Amino acid sequence: MEGGKPRLLHGIGVTTGTVVGKCWVRLMHEIVLPERQITPEQIPSEWKRLEEALGLSRGQLEDLYENVRQMMGDDKAEIIEFHLMMLDDEELLQNIRTILEQELCCIEQAVDHAIAAACTTMQSKADPYFQERAEDIRDVGNRILRNLLGEPVGGIQYSPKEPSVLLTDDLTPTETAHLDLNIVKAIVTRGGSRTSHTAILARALGIPAIVAVQETLDGLADGMEVALDVSRGVVIVNPDEATAAAYRAREEKQKALLAQMLDENRLCPETRDGFQARLVANVELPHEAEQAKRRYNVGVGLFRTEFLFITKGRPLSEEEQFENYRQTAEAVYPRSVIFRTLDIGGDKVLSQLDMPQELNPFMGTRAIRFSLYRPELFKEQLRAILRASAYGKVRVMFPMISTQEELVHAIKYLDEVKLELSRDNIPFNDELDVGCMIEVPSAALLAERLAPMVDFFSIGTNDLVQYSLAVDRGNPAIAYLYQPAHPAVLRQMKHVVDAAYASGKWVSVCGEMAAELLYTPLILGMGIHELSMSPMSLPSVHQLISNIRMQDAEILVAQALECNDGLEVDALCRNFLQRACPEILTGDDLPPLP
Ligand code: PEP
Ligand code: MG
Repeated sequence: MEGGKPRLLHGIGVTTGTVVGKCWVRLMHEIVLPERQITPEQIPSEWKRLEEALGLSRGQLEDLYENVRQMMGDDKAEIIEFHLMMLDDEELLQNIRTILEQELCCIEQAVDHAIAAACTTMQSKADPYFQERAEDIRDVGNRILRNLLGEPVGGIQYSPKEPSVLLTDDLTPTETAHLDLNIVKAIVTRGGSRTSHTAILARALGIPAIVAVQETLDGLADGMEVALDVSRGVVIVNPDEATAAAYRAREEKQKALLAQMLDENRLCPETRDGFQARLVANVELPHEAEQAKRRYNVGVGLFRTEFLFITKGRPLSEEEQFENYRQTAEAVYPRSVIFRTLDIGGDKVLSQLDMPQELNPFMGTRAIRFSLYRPELFKEQLRAILRASAYGKVRVMFPMISTQEELVHAIKYLDEVKLELSRDNIPFNDELDVGCMIEVPSAALLAERLAPMVDFFSIGTNDLVQYSLAVDRGNPAIAYLYQPAHPAVLRQMKHVVDAAYASGKWVSVCGEMAAELLYTPLILGMGIHELSMSPMSLPSVHQLISNIRMQDAEILVAQALECNDGLEVDALCRNFLQRACPEILTGDDLPPLP
């Protein structure tokens, strides 16, 4: 089916890029459960059927575990491990048994009820980790049911003839792991969230994905054309010819840029007048760091360590953390990695950490405040990072520093741990660079007091914008106020850079602003050398830097600092890009949404 009126779908883009392709629609096909009642004498035979289905499920999941481990690494394989554990979950099995005996329904009904109850329990928890595990429990439940019913399980049953965009109500983590990347160009799902396992696997596979689509997928059919702007989380169904052509051109350009960047194999792009910048990656898990090094030959400018805890749903021991950090340091060597200590709190909660209940968690016991409130956890993490520093080029930085005193305390704990390690003859790099994130206006404004205490600053613009303009970074209702290039933000950044250089320290930017092409010239023009961003943005930023002149960027900054608001600065930047590098892909090359 082709043609028809353009239609828009909105979701959350968990990767970046544009994609054009034919739809491959796979709406959930319901499992039809038998309604059979049984007699008490039939309980043993029904239970035996369940045991056989569990055995089959175990075999399938063990095979899948091995595939995922080989393709995507140990950390992703753990997702399948969780599914395997569910098959032996005593509480779940006991619940199935109780339903079977009390209701005398067939085993399929008993499994379905017990799984539904387990999902409800998970969804009722405040911690998003548990809410998202409901998705895994449903996935395992469906596998058991399909095995009971003799239906095919795991993986996708139908494959289109040409690479297509898979649109589906939901994609379970195991289905995502099964995807044939020669066939699936991108995925669009109604279910999922930014941190769901499906999203994590999509990111690990490097597959463009939009999740949590708000609109129904009803009415979509195989063969319809779709154009995806993944960064903005937008899907255009039935785009007109001009739109499809613009998206296709951008897709081709992205591929060419990547090829060019890899071909040049240069870590440091250089402006036309010889200023060198260093590009590095933002990652959340060791495997992503390894992939960034392998694909883009870059190091890591921000390792968000809290995601190790969040994906596991519990705090990691020192030993487990050390293993993850060591593996990362070795994988990116000879490049370096900056581990940011836990930024838990705000919207990143972990119920097992017994976090304080707060009315305004973004202003509460978040990040370094949490670490200082739980020094035993903080010191465990510092020990793990320091121990890993013996295996590569490791740096450490502290998130959300808002006072000098916090930084003094954080460094005091670091020094204590160093002493303990020396006393125990455990190797570590005593000279490792220590950094302070600048994400709070008080830290930005007093940067000259902080600079002498550290080796570098890393500006977290996501939070600096949020706290400077009092605008919740995740609230779409006030997104218009979220202006990264607002002069109030730029003036703070400039002040931070000047303070750092006066003390002979270096500065990095690791917020999303670093990856926004519109703002790259501003960041460079301030004299910032290191830009850290999600790996998929590296090629286009690399290209842009190679096309501009530092001298012009400095003039742009001077003009921007005098503007009245962020929109005025945006207009200046757009103008700058059009003159300096008209071929750059800022998003303006795409036609307006229908
Ligand atoms: C930031 O605030 O810009 C940043 C990089 O940290 P996060 O996005 O993890 O809060
Ligand atoms: Mg931050």
